Amino acid sequence: MCGIFGYVGANQAGGDIILDALRKLEYRGYDSWGVAVGANGHIDIAKHAGRIGDAVAELPDAPIGFGHTRWATHGGVTDANAHPHLDCTGRFAVIHNGIIENFRGIKDRLLASGHQFHSETDSEVIAHLVEEAMADDPNRDLISAVREVFAQLRGLNAIIVLDNRTHQLTAVKNVSPLVLGQGTKGLYLASDALALVGHADRIHYLEDGQMARLASDGVTLWSAETGASQPPDFQPLTLTANDTSLGIYPHFMIKEIHEQPEVLRNISSHYSEPVKELAALIRESYGSFLVGSGTASYAALSGSYLFSRIARRHVNFTVGSEFKYQEHFITDRSLVIALSQSGETADVIESVLAAKQRGAKIAALVNVKGSTLDRLADFSIPLGAGPEQCVLSTKAYTAKLAILLMAAHELNGSLHVARELLWQAIDGIEQAIAPDSANLIRAIAARIVQREHAFIIGRGLSYPTALEAALKIKEVSYMHAEGFAGGELKHGVIALVEQGTPAIVFSPNDETRDDILSGAMEMRSRGALTIGVSPVNDQIFDEFIPVADAGDASPIVNVIPAQLLGYELALLRGLDPDKPRNLAKSVTVK
Ligand code: GLU
Repeated sequence: MCGIFGYVGANQAGGDIILDALRKLEYRGYDSWGVAVGANGHIDIAKHAGRIGDAVAELPDAPIGFGHTRWATHGGVTDANAHPHLDCTGRFAVIHNGIIENFRGIKDRLLASGHQFHSETDSEVIAHLVEEAMADDPNRDLISAVREVFAQLRGLNAIIVLDNRTHQLTAVKNVSPLVLGQGTKGLYLASDALALVGHADRIHYLEDGQMARLASDGVTLWSAETGASQPPDFQPLTLTANDTSLGIYPHFMIKEIHEQPEVLRNISSHYSEPVKELAALIRESYGSFLVGSGTASYAALSGSYLFSRIARRHVNFTVGSEFKYQEHFITDRSLVIALSQSGETADVIESVLAAKQRGAKIAALVNVKGSTLDRLADFSIPLGAGPEQCVLSTKAYTAKLAILLMAAHELNGSLHVARELLWQAIDGIEQAIAPDSANLIRAIAARIVQREHAFIIGRGLSYPTALEAALKIKEVSYMHAEGFAGGELKHGVIALVEQGTPAIVFSPNDETRDDILSGAMEMRSRGALTIGVSPVNDQIFDEFIPVADAGDASPIVNVIPAQLLGYELALLRGLDPDKPRNLAKSVTVK
């Protein structure tokens, strides 16, 4: 979470470059923003609570500076808590992504030795620690000071320190992402390659414990562990302005929903080899474990159903944050398959690190190339979905489902069937996003927009779809939506059904149909407004959303109306679908 961006170069309009880049990074955190530039012998800062919007930072011209978009963890959403933070002398400024788990003890000690704090954040301790480390010898090499400071910080952190005396930026990271960019006008640091589009043409993914110093004479890298210098491994930046712009769409959410057919066409046509490799790893392992958080966890749960149903294999599943309580039977013959859009989800990374320690093999399904998960995994399949800039995940979800479906069929020796099903699913998505279907969903959204609660049921393969549908609606529209296994209805939740309660019913053409329709009937008998998502209409549906039957690929099609419903509900409620409150993309904190 949080976006960080640094610039050193020939352009005097450093402040504008940084502010513009922060707009691209804002999806990583939008509680507040701040920019610092080093000019005229001191550091100037503009920082404010709230979104960047059309803000203009009133800052002097400067060729060095950095900025931050915050997702608050320690301290309220206030101007004072916005980054950057200064040390007592005003020589050093700091921006930080992560949580300093031991900040309390450090802060108490710094306060006792007379340091003045201006924020409630954990991050501010870094500025004062650097100040202390440089106090005895103001000419000490900043790299060695930051190295010493970073070694004191516990947690998954990325930091950049600006020194206004030596005009340099020093950066170091542990798990939290940082990339280095090089362009014709300067050097850049960013928590996401997206922010480098239009600035850099080459990027280097900073390794954990690798330190970078950016100054007007160039960039130098060191190992924080040994102090040895390391050459950067620059690669061309392949993202383009097209990847980062809205194009014809009003929001990234709807743009990304509409990109799904293309993403799946690519997977269906080009993923045989990686899918075969993944299937071989599952076949060779003594127990495989799917792990993911949020939307990725529902893709993982779907995978567990698909492997059971298609390949007759038990592939375990757990959510990232619970893995550590269930990891005890992982051995060096286990396979952990980690799913993550960003590849930075702290709970998933922690699971992977724990599994690695037990000697397990790691496979990853991850959208962001070069991300921590991508690099930690023994075998990584890139989703190829392109950047997801809406905070909600849509296209990465269906991409994961497609790969898992193919892997399950490959294990069963029927990969060609998966490909056929995927083509049916792609047609199904095209129909689901066509104007007629979108209008129908808009009308249903208008009918339920005033309701506080919605319930969503599915069985079997449709159970994870019900969970994902509920998450989509909740996170974007703030309507409380609860997804559950249809059979669980009468074990409690039905007590909440009232006259007019929306009840979304996933009713595919499979063995779950009769039972799920009984559940729908039970809800309707108690006043629920039933909304059927099915290839076949039924008289018990008050509203009917027709979807194509794509066999075992149906979860890929069925989730689309839920994505669209969430989007339409958000618009009707006057909300920004791309940046729901309290959320941020890339959950890099625990
Ligand atoms: N823990 C820091 C804060 O609350 C950084 C949060 C972030 O990563 O945005 O300010």
